[in-house]
Amino acid sequence: MLPSLIFFDLDKTLAASKQPLTPEMAQLLSKLLARTNVAIISGGKFSQLKEQVADQLPEGTVLDHLFILPTSGAALYAFLEGRWQAVYEERLTDAQAQSICTTLETAMRETGIVDLASHSYGDRIEFRGAEVTLSALGQEAPIAEKEAWDPDGSKKRTLHDALVPMLPEYDVKTGGSTSIDVTLKGINKAYGIRKLCEYRSYIIADTMYIGDALYPGGNDEVVKETGIRTQQVKDPEDTMRVIGELLAG
Ligand SMILES: [Mg+2]
Repeated sequence: MLPSLIFFDLDKTLAASKQPLTPEMAQLLSKLLARTNVAIISGGKFSQLKEQVADQLPEGTVLDHLFILPTSGAALYAFLEGRWQAVYEERLTDAQAQSICTTLETAMRETGIVDLASHSYGDRIEFRGAEVTLSALGQEAPIAEKEAWDPDGSKKRTLHDALVPMLPEYDVKTGGSTSIDVTLKGINKAYGIRKLCEYRSYIIADTMYIGDALYPGGNDEVVKETGIRTQQVKDPEDTMRVIGELLAG
């Protein structure tokens, strides 16, 4: 039997970093949405997730079955009465965002992990309402450069470990290939899972989480604390195989 709700990570699970779903992936997700509920949970902001996922789905897709949890679960959007609406959003105040930005800059300088004198593709720091995100090469960096920057994740780890004691009131997470996400304390993918299950009265045991980074230190690992059933995937192609099996099962 299909889980009553399936959570997906986005980057490297459903699509390459910041890229739209491929038409094949969009078709498969649409088939899944005809039969069960799907939630996308990622560090990206809502407009980005909507563009990458919801806007790629073929006409006739049951959007009422789709939930979007941007900014690492700090917000939840549902398709209600024909349009996307925020169910909740745990926003940072401007003062909180400003203090996080300053600390991120200090950490980049002090660790020497990001050369601030080097070229940046767009801003390195972005305030996303509920989250502040540091993207080491800039928000618009090309995928190939992003993937070559920190292939074993050690640079992100160093930045993360330096930031945790500098931002004790916040939750610091490693994000996509080059990013670090900062939200209010206790807000992470596990929080998003619990909030959506509570909102729609799903039992976590009847749901499932699919992601590429469930391993220790990976940015999907935190979901395990909810007790949710998990499925590790290698990349979007592997995810298509898993969805195919779910649809056939
Ligand atoms: Mg991922």
